[in-house]
Formats: sequence, structure tokens, C-alpha cells
Amino acid sequence: MSVISKLFTSDKKPTPLGLVVAGSLLGLSTLLWVKAPRTPILSAEVAEEHFKHLSHTEPNEGNSPDWKPPHRVRYSKKTSAQAEEMKPDVIIVGSGLGSLTTGSLLAQRGWKVLILEQHDQAGGCLHTFEEKGYEFDVGLHYIGGMVGSRWSSLRKMYDVVTGGRVEWCKLDDPYDSAVCTGEYEESGADSIHFYGDYKRTEKELKAKLTKEEGKQVSSFFFSLNFTVVRMAGWLVAKVMPIWLRRSVGRLVEIPSAGVLNVTTTDYMKNALGVTSSKVHGILTYLFGDYGLMPSVSSWAVHAVVFNHWRGGAFYPYGGSSALAMGACEVIRQNGGLILVNSRVKSIVVEGGKAVGVEMEKDGNIFRANKIVSDVGARNTFLRLLKSEDIANVDKSFISDLTQDEQGDLDEHARMAPSCALLNLFIGLDAPAESLGVPATNAWVVPSWDHEKNLQKFWAEDGESELPVAFIGSNSAKDFSYEKRFGKNRGSVMVLAPVEYKWFKKWENNRVHARGEDYDAMKKHWEEKLLKKLYQVYPNVKGHITYMDLGTPLSNNYYLGVNHGEVYGLTHSLDRCWKHRDALSVHTDIPGLYMTGQDLMTAGVSAALMSGVMTVAAISKPVLVSHVHNLL
Ligand SMILES: Cc1cc2nc3c(=O)[nH]c(=O)nc-3n(C[C@H](O)[C@H](O)[C@H](O)COP(=O)(O)OP(=O)(O)OC[C@H]3O[C@@H](n4cnc5c(N)ncnc54)[C@H](O)[C@@H]3O)c2cc1C
Repeated sequence: MSVISKLFTSDKKPTPLGLVVAGSLLGLSTLLWVKAPRTPILSAEVAEEHFKHLSHTEPNEGNSPDWKPPHRVRYSKKTSAQAEEMKPDVIIVGSGLGSLTTGSLLAQRGWKVLILEQHDQAGGCLHTFEEKGYEFDVGLHYIGGMVGSRWSSLRKMYDVVTGGRVEWCKLDDPYDSAVCTGEYEESGADSIHFYGDYKRTEKELKAKLTKEEGKQVSSFFFSLNFTVVRMAGWLVAKVMPIWLRRSVGRLVEIPSAGVLNVTTTDYMKNALGVTSSKVHGILTYLFGDYGLMPSVSSWAVHAVVFNHWRGGAFYPYGGSSALAMGACEVIRQNGGLILVNSRVKSIVVEGGKAVGVEMEKDGNIFRANKIVSDVGARNTFLRLLKSEDIANVDKSFISDLTQDEQGDLDEHARMAPSCALLNLFIGLDAPAESLGVPATNAWVVPSWDHEKNLQKFWAEDGESELPVAFIGSNSAKDFSYEKRFGKNRGSVMVLAPVEYKWFKKWENNRVHARGEDYDAMKKHWEEKLLKKLYQVYPNVKGHITYMDLGTPLSNNYYLGVNHGEVYGLTHSLDRCWKHRDALSVHTDIPGLYMTGQDLMTAGVSAALMSGVMTVAAISKPVLVSHVHNLL
């Protein structure tokens, strides 16, 4: 034995020096590991160095006039014949990120993948649109999980799915500001900033509160990671086959019950001692991210969403559809086909097994061994399957699912569709930043009592102050915006929840021709949303060159939903706990599998995870083959 090894071991046991050195090395490497992912590699200042304009899709090599990027290939006689010929192994209905993740991972493994999407581009909530020289996104304003850093495992998953085609821009720090405008607040107007460094958020917040309230804030932040860890069993059980889920799954998910089957308000009050209504209001400022009041939402959903931005928030370079384009290109390169303008009318079930899908346009039937649905539980079980096909599906689940009234974001929520939103798309004649709109989201509320704000709003049929408005600028977040749309341009969006029933009477009218009364009603809402924008960013006044309002009816049309809902099923205890079995990858119909936000929670990264779960359930080797990429 060398002299050096004698310094560290004696009689095959470590010497005190050995213990100190081993401990220090372990401590140092832990420190490096913990520190590294928290140092984002990308920010606005270094953008130009880091980004060349990434092509999310391969170029049209032969300049063929028929060429379409793979997320925009339409359903036609020619393409449907192609779909028929390929004899797909799996057909995926809908093309949100849950679908594209499933499709990308399976295609990379050699499966023949066919994806059918009703809209004119793939991506679901990730789609973007251009109007009058501005680009707007719809369902992605920010993503956490440290995706800007190559150390992040979430980033690695995105890279696997998109073939590494997507880079990420870092939002400003703070990434979110909760702005209380004070109309109904005794303590007056105030703004609270949320930073990637949660310690800083906690410190700044505590400095504004009493000592007792400060303790409640600390207890909240301390509990976040623990809650997320406790959700693991719930996720694992969702991947299990039905027989295993109803036996072993019950054991695995025991730790999850205490965080999923309890409301946000109850958990904060009883387990975390948050008795101050102000602290409760501030720490639930982002309930709009999952669209349900804290008094009825599942605590685990609130915690996982809140915890997602530890380390800051990010936005895809090139806009949210860059993610869809990247994933579609991977699927295309691996022999898969994504067809848009392809509404599926029904899932074909023969002998109790799902064997194919029937197309609405021409009644064509495509067959495959496995059918995956990314269109949500309501569309799948209530619209695409006949009543005889769902005879073996849990009766109480189906009965609860038929609850048709809008979720109301309150105690009526149960299994209702999630909230309906207005989305005001605004084009500016100058970069948003130059008008004082940063790459930070603003959540604007009239008081910290969200429940009271909402009840007043509902009771007065929307005539009172908006209970919450979300303001974000995609042009400020996306470093490629100026390069793509020119110097003197910026865009901002203002979102707010509304009741679907206020819009229902126009639901059967044609898009873009719903009548004068509809246009007048839109004008009324535009003014309400603009008021919030000007309250927070007064310099925008006089710089608006384009404006259009997306209503819940627009969501029906573009997202393929029926109540203007934006997050699938509402995030109540019924959805998250009572009906967790029915909202799993394996359904009670052999051959039919689920993916997408209803499996997990709302959120782009949740949709990505749902795709990984679906693939894990139907093709285990695919996941194993990618493990090295995820570590
Ligand atoms: C306004 C808004 C803002 C959001 N902001 C954020 C955010 O900032 N950060 C974040 O992480 N998440 C955000 N989300 C949530 C996130 O975008 C979604 O949770 C996620 O993208 C859902 O993915 P999915 O796979 O479930 O499918 P979806 O994106 O819901 O896609 C389902 C697809 O199925 C199609 N379809 C429906 N019926 C049929 C049919 N019969 N035949 C064929 N196709 C059909 C639809 O057209 C749609 O394209 C937001 C969502 C919205 C709407």
C-alpha cells in the first residue's frame, strides 16, 4: 500500500483524515451540483452570442412548391392515402405537447406514428399566429424547471423530444409580479416580486409583513419541495396497468393523498399555519396558472406550479410553436406523419377493443394497434366514444364528467371544464420594453382576497373589477422577435377569466361572423382589459396599432374544446384524487391510452411529462433507451 493510501485508511477503515477528505469531497461535489443548475446560462445580455437563428424545421431543400413544414401538412386525398399506406403502429388524436412527446419518443424507437389534429397547425396550446406583422402565442407564457440550463433534466427531456432544436430565453428577474391595484384592498395598492432565487422573494416579502406573517411565509416556502416529492407515488400509479394500479398502486400513492386530496386553503391554514388572509392572498397570486380558486383547488397542484419557477422562468427562442415544430420534425425524420385539418369524429371500438379512428371529413377509418388520446377526458369519453363503448368505464367517473356547467372557479368546480379566458392580443408601434413592459408577467388583482373578488365579479355578471388579469409580452421574452418582425414592433397580451354562459348564445355562429352584438360585447371587454393594462403600464397608451380579442368561443374553435376551457378538467379534489384511476394512461378500454394535461396537471412541462408517462406505459424500452439522455 502506498504512503498516501495509509494516510486515508488503516485496517481497511478510514482514518480521521480520510473521513475529513471524503466528507469535504462529498460536500464540494454536492455544492457544485446544487449550484450549477441554478446558474442560468442564458440571459438577454448574452443572447446574441448564444443564439444563431435555430431552424426548428429542416429547410425546403428542393424548393418544392408542395413543401410544408411537418406541423402544417394538411389532410387531403394524397396525405390520407399516405397515412393508410404507412399502416401506423399508433394513432394519436390531437397534437398538443402530450401527443408530440409520445409521438416523438415512439417514432425515435421505430414505431410508425400517425398524429391527427383538427386545427390548421400542430401543437395544440403551443400554436402561435401572425396578424398584421405581429406574432402572438396562445398557451405558453413561461416555463420553469431551469430549462435554460443544460444541466436541467427537464431541459434534457425537451431536447430529446425536439431533437435539441429549441433554445430558451430567460425572462427578467422577477419573472412574476403580483400587482394589487387596491380598489378593494384596505391596506392599499402594492406590488410583490417573485424571483428565481426564492430566498430573495421570501426575504423581500417578509420585510413587508409582520413577524408572525413572516413565519407563515417561511413555512410555505419550506413545504414546497416536500409536497412535490410526495406527488411521486400518484404519478407512478398513473403509469401502472389497471390491475397493478388497483393493488400495488394503492400502496405507492399513500404519501400523495395528504397533499393531493386537500384544498390549497385548508393545507396552508392547517398544515402550514397560514392564518393571515393577506399572506394567503399573496402566496396564491398565481391561481390563474391552473384556473381555480385556492379554496377548492388541490394543494399539490398549487405547490407544484408555484415551485416550477425555482431558478427563474424561460421562453422558447422563436416563440411557443418552436417546440411543436421541433418535435414534428423529429417525428417526420423518423417516418411519422402529422396531419392537420384532420378532425377525428370517433374512436372505433370493435369487440371491446379500440382499433382505429374515423375521420369527420370523409368517414375514412385509420387502424392501428394502439390509439392514444390527447384531446382530454371530456372529448375522449363523452364525444369520441359511443355509450356502448364506455359501458365498462367507471360509472361515477362518467356521471361526474357529464357535469356541464362551467367550473366557476369555485365550489361548483368538481369535474367541470376548467376556466374560460379572454385573451386580448395587442400590437405596439415600439418594442414593449421601450414602453416599460418588461419580460416579467404581471398578475393584477383588486385586493388580496381572490375569492371575494371573484364572487363579486360573478354576482355582478362581470360588471365589477376583473378578479385577476394576467399581462405578459411575448415580444419582450422572445429574443428573436425583433429579428423576425422588425425594430419598431412589440406585442402584449392581457388575459382574464370569464363565465362561459356570457358567450354561449353565440356558440353556433360562424367564426369571424358572429354578428354586431357579439362585436359590441367584445368592445366592452376590450375596454375592461385595457384599463388593467394602462393601470400597470401607462406608457403603452397611444402606441397600440393592432388589437383583437380572443373569447371562450375562439378557444372552442382553435383548441377543440366545448366550454372555452383552457386547462382541460378543473383542478379540483375530484379531478386530482377521486377520479385519479380513470385519469391514468391505461383506460378501461383495451388499446386506448391517454396522454396530455388531464393525466397530470395543466402546464406545458406537465404535458411533456404526460407524454413520457404514456410512452413508459405502452413501450417501456423506449423510456429505458432514453434514460442516459435524462441524467
Ligand atoms: C391561455 C393559456 C395560457 C397558458 N399558459 C401557460 C404557461 O405560461 N406555461 C405553461 O406551462 N402552460 C401554460 N398553459 C397550459 C399549457 O399550454 C397546456 O396545459 C398544454 O399545452 C396542454 O397540452 P396537451 O398535450 O394536453 O394538449 P392541448 O394543447 O390541449 O392540445 C389538444 C389538441 O387536440 C386537438 N383536438 C381536439 N379534438 C380533436 C379531434 N376530435 N380531432 C383531432 N384533434 C382534436 C385540439 O385542436 C388541440 O390541438 C396555458 C394554456 C392556455 C390555454
